[in-house]
Amino acid sequence: MTTSVSFSTADAAELYQVPNWSGGWFRVSDKGQMEVTPTPGLHAPLRSIIDDILERGESLPVILRFPQVVAGRVKQLNEAFGKAITEYGYTGHYQGVFPIKVNQRRMVVESVAAAGYEYAHGLEAGSKAELALCLAQRMHPDALLCCNGFKDDGFIKLALWGRSLGKNVVITLEKYGELDRVLKQARALGVKPALGVRFKLHARGSGQWEESGGDQAKFGLNAYEMLRVVERLKEEDMLDSLVMLHTHIGSQITDIRRVKVAVREATQTYAGLIAAGAQLKYLNVGGGLGVDYDGSKTTFYASMNYTLGEYAADVVYTVQETCKARGVPEPTIISESGRALTAHHAVLVMPVVDVTGPTRNLDTLAAPSEDSHQIVKDLADILGNLSARNYREMYNDAVGDKQTLHNLFDLGYVTLDDRARGEALFNAILRKIAKLIQGEKYVPDELEDLQKVLADQYICNFSLFQSLPDNWAIQALFPIVPLDRLNERPTRQGTLVDITCDSDGKIEKFIDLRDVKATLPLHEPGTKPYYLGIFLMGAYQDVLGSAHNLFGKVNEAHVTIRPGGRYHVDLFVRGQKARRMIESMGYEEPMLRDSIEDQADAALEAGTLTPEQETELLEDYGEELLGYTYLEYEEG
Ligand SMILES: *Cc1c(COP(=O)(O)O)cnc(C)c1O
Repeated sequence: MTTSVSFSTADAAELYQVPNWSGGWFRVSDKGQMEVTPTPGLHAPLRSIIDDILERGESLPVILRFPQVVAGRVKQLNEAFGKAITEYGYTGHYQGVFPIKVNQRRMVVESVAAAGYEYAHGLEAGSKAELALCLAQRMHPDALLCCNGFKDDGFIKLALWGRSLGKNVVITLEKYGELDRVLKQARALGVKPALGVRFKLHARGSGQWEESGGDQAKFGLNAYEMLRVVERLKEEDMLDSLVMLHTHIGSQITDIRRVKVAVREATQTYAGLIAAGAQLKYLNVGGGLGVDYDGSKTTFYASMNYTLGEYAADVVYTVQETCKARGVPEPTIISESGRALTAHHAVLVMPVVDVTGPTRNLDTLAAPSEDSHQIVKDLADILGNLSARNYREMYNDAVGDKQTLHNLFDLGYVTLDDRARGEALFNAILRKIAKLIQGEKYVPDELEDLQKVLADQYICNFSLFQSLPDNWAIQALFPIVPLDRLNERPTRQGTLVDITCDSDGKIEKFIDLRDVKATLPLHEPGTKPYYLGIFLMGAYQDVLGSAHNLFGKVNEAHVTIRPGGRYHVDLFVRGQKARRMIESMGYEEPMLRDSIEDQADAALEAGTLTPEQETELLEDYGEELLGYTYLEYEEG
């Protein structure tokens, strides 16, 4: 084909905006294939990896994960903050924590922990099951293990035991009532807690998650509750236990100004707590560092108007400026970046299994015959006379004729053969109009949806709900690119449909530098398999499907109500155990237990744990592993 000659791999990179969103982790190779490039000099075509997997007898769809990309992102984040700290002469440090709810998979957590070791990069747990996982990780002794989320006694005990194991565990109070719970457990176990307090900033995020911040936020204490915590700890002579101020205004903050405003408010609050007598060491600015899914570098919800380097610089600068003004020491800055660390590492690869569409099979269309109905002949005339000057008028005529065609068919005046020819002619007219208006600046309103109406449907072997829940639930966008043939001009426009029986199982919004596109440029599938890659899906998507926060299936009780106020529990279905959830992420229970036992033995030797405490600790850990993942409050 002549068109493919004039289409280069550079054109493909531009068409799919690869350099804009890939962060350098993926590129179009000279051979026209998508390649992963985890470090300079290392690269591999995704297509070859897929062929290899298939040769082993495995099936698609498959998620390709690249641990080196996770490690690379950890390094980039820490180095960005390191650079900003040096540049501004900031006297504190930076320490990240990875909120594992973003992706609890073993490969991901272990990659973060390993790559983060030299930076004392820590972890953040939001549930008991997550904490059980985090405790078993080998981490730098200074690395933080932050415990967020609502907590019951089991959660708190496990966190306290973590301190006995020599881990830098900080329990973040998400509401005022948790303080008493923590103090009670700490007293009972004889372990001194390290506490953080989550503050409800009045500043809000931007984009889709902005509700996470603000006065109505689910988590956090307000100003007077926080001061009561300080007073209460003073009374207990434990004010030195309060080490961290925690804030979080939501995920995927698209506008850097929101970050600066929130960090300023957080730092003012930090200074206020110092003034109240607290000796805070850490200022935690939360998550929110974005991922530029559409590569547009804008405040659009799928994008961000800043770089990683700018984020680090602005956070460090704002904290420093505010601390100077208030005359307080510069704290260790913590960020809980999750999305930004993990989004890039995973690619969902799915085969196109079939293509359907209104303009396919048009080539079998025969010209109207002598005995064709007049309406069919009219449509043929329209197609023949269509030009750049008259397409609007012709379009309206064609729409009218098609309606008439259907009415006449219903009344029995038009044969099935005529109907087929008429519809095919109508679709051919639309296709010709689409070509005529392709380059036009002004497109009449009634024709705006033409591309979408004419688009092919590429049927892909995957389930949107299992693999891309955010696309379905909140219209999140992900870059989608064919894995090869990128030296060939894509000649079709398509939307994607999955193989579930749900009509919502489709993708009809694609990244674009301006807003979103209704169709994706794709190749005509040939005799060889055609694969599409969905990129940047390594954060949330991966685990959201059914295992958000490692909360498994919930218990179920089926209850029948009987006369006289009686009822009967017919069936009780147990929810998933933490162990099952943990194992579903690739960990093995004995390995986790071994790790905790080794650490406990070491603590025993170091004298931070008595033999009785060790036994109790191991029992509690085992209990949580076997326990239900949801909160269990004891009455009273
Ligand atoms: C989810 C969450 C994060 C992660 O946010 P990202 O935007 O993914 O970095 C950080 N902190 C808290 C408290 C969270 O709930």
